Amino acid sequence: MELNARIPAGPLEKKWDRHRFEMKLVNPANKRKYTVIVVGSGLGGGAAAATLGELGYNVKCFCFQDSPRRAHSIAAQGGINAAKNYQNDGDSIYRLFYDTIKGGDFRAREANVYRLAEVSVNIIDQCVAQGVPFAREYGGLLANRSFGGAQVSRTFYARGQTGQQLLLGAYQALERQIHLGTVTMFPRTEMLDLVMIEGRARGIITRDLVTGKIESHVADAVILGTGGYGNVFYLSTNAKGSNATAIWRAYKRGAAFANPCFTQIHPTCIPVSGEHQSKLTLMSESLRNDGRVWVPKEKGDKRAPTQIPETERDYFLERKYPSFGNLAPRDIASRAAKEVCDEGRGVGQGGLGVYLDFADSIKRLGVEVIRERYGNLFEMYERITDENPYKLPMRIYPAVHYTMGGLWVDYNLMSTIEGLHVIGEANFSDHGANRLGASALMQGLADGYFVIPNTIGNYLATAKPAKVDTNHHAFKSAEALIAERTKKLLSIDGKRTVDSFHRELGRIMWDYCGMARNDAGLRKALELIPQLRDEFWRNVNVPGSDTHLNQALEKAGRVADFFELAELMCIDALHRTESCGGHFREESQTPDGEALRDDEHFAYVAAWGYGGEGEPPILHKEPLVFENVKLSQRSYK
Ligand SMILES: Cc1cc2nc3c(=O)[nH]c(=O)nc-3n(C[C@H](O)[C@H](O)[C@H](O)COP(=O)(O)OP(=O)(O)OC[C@H]3O[C@@H](n4cnc5c(N)ncnc54)[C@H](O)[C@@H]3O)c2cc1C
Repeated sequence: MELNARIPAGPLEKKWDRHRFEMKLVNPANKRKYTVIVVGSGLGGGAAAATLGELGYNVKCFCFQDSPRRAHSIAAQGGINAAKNYQNDGDSIYRLFYDTIKGGDFRAREANVYRLAEVSVNIIDQCVAQGVPFAREYGGLLANRSFGGAQVSRTFYARGQTGQQLLLGAYQALERQIHLGTVTMFPRTEMLDLVMIEGRARGIITRDLVTGKIESHVADAVILGTGGYGNVFYLSTNAKGSNATAIWRAYKRGAAFANPCFTQIHPTCIPVSGEHQSKLTLMSESLRNDGRVWVPKEKGDKRAPTQIPETERDYFLERKYPSFGNLAPRDIASRAAKEVCDEGRGVGQGGLGVYLDFADSIKRLGVEVIRERYGNLFEMYERITDENPYKLPMRIYPAVHYTMGGLWVDYNLMSTIEGLHVIGEANFSDHGANRLGASALMQGLADGYFVIPNTIGNYLATAKPAKVDTNHHAFKSAEALIAERTKKLLSIDGKRTVDSFHRELGRIMWDYCGMARNDAGLRKALELIPQLRDEFWRNVNVPGSDTHLNQALEKAGRVADFFELAELMCIDALHRTESCGGHFREESQTPDGEALRDDEHFAYVAAWGYGGEGEPPILHKEPLVFENVKLSQRSYK
């Protein structure tokens, strides 16, 4: 397998411009002759499908929800970054680039990140033109707030529902193309395999989730915008349906999987409250603009928060990171919260919680300002916990939130399979080992609206894919494999539910490949996961049949993939004996407990190739070359 990142030559600031000029174009009249499959209708997939349709390509777009507008992107709360510098507080494309590289602990590719920062300004213009109701200041300019890891305010937002408003913008654009006939939408349809012909991606196999029908779809190029795989941990802030099946099946067809162990644990989520839970709820990072994070100074202090005087509180983020304070990046803030809880100073049930307190800002700004900024988040918190955050501090704890790993892509967003492109959270992306807040929406829309529409044309014009149809034996054999797997899942007739296996897998992952990892724990996970997977294939119970809506069957297929992916994540985490960003190896820390990188040995992207059934994966390395920023120990003090 060759890892050629295809980074254009020339100075950083000129690469994208020059590349766009040098890329081959498809004549407008020829675009409709090409069919492009887009799997996913979130911000990445929705933006890509709408834009490619508008360009004139013949697009087929797939999602497993009943409507594209229910993609998980709708859950995004806090905002989207862009280097507009409306605040005149020193922001620039270069600063956004620099913050992202540093925030990712120097494990991202410079050229891609610079392009992301460049394109960020276009995203805001496009979304405003679509009518996305971003918050505005009294003078009419778009408002900004701050997010972690940055000392400027560059986050554009629509209250606490930015993802929903952005998705509605993309969805409108998509619906327009559906109406015009350039995009055909396939809701309630799940991609179950990728079809390759002569080494290129030429289509997908899908299952209609309502009728159970298995179908082949042929195309000249395939784009996956299928989101992240945080649900491998069972409990996460992701939508329950989010899964890894599309990218995992592509991996098994030959697409390299990059940095699978890079997971983001978000510091501000509502703590787990018991075994009954199947999902965790995020409290947006934007809350850290006005909320102060603290725990009691004394271990085991059980007094109500309002009874604990100021002098007996430890505002640990402000104490440890005076420059960034409560807006320290997510990986750092999460570990700091874990540390105080491990010391016995955590609050709430089981001591796994810290306070996020708005009393000071309510005093300073008034309750109406706080309600205006975060009203819907406060309401959500109250509904879940039955506590009023205007009166009592919120209780928060870190939870799995985002996956920086994903399918490896080159500068053109093409995977190691010719013709298979990957966008949004599904690719290994631009965030290195830790994503800064409000950068995922930016990346998804950058990929979908601005990058892929250019690079797909270059691929089609250069590769000139030959005509094939779904009668090709590659489609037939892939369909047969899906039918066989489905039959097998339905015939096991065991004693345990899919969920019980998923919950147990999640527990193993959280305990051994979660916020802190070590050699012994990862080896233990690598013993436990195959044992549990074996049991799954012997003892799972999948009721019903494959000829109608069967959610247990859907889940079973996804959990089977999570088992395999979980193993790869642990292998990756075990091999990377450094700490970086969200990947914290306990053996590798600075004297004050921060992540200690090992640039000499690990300044690379770990891209794993499928080794075959029962064989270990094969590690390929893409060295990361830093020509514009100096590698340094990350500090937010
Ligand atoms: C609670 C929460 C809040 C967040 N807030 C923010 C924020 O404020 N700012 C920010 O920048 N980021 C935020 N994020 C992260 C961000 O929302 C996501 O990274 C981003 O929306 C992912 O977009 P996507 O298009 O890549 O994938 P998704 O929105 O997850 O869409 C995936 C699409 O793929 C489809 N799909 C998946 N698999 C298949 C399959 N096998 N077959 C057919 N279709 C398939 C789905 O149906 C869906 O349409 C937040 C995340 C969470 C969990």
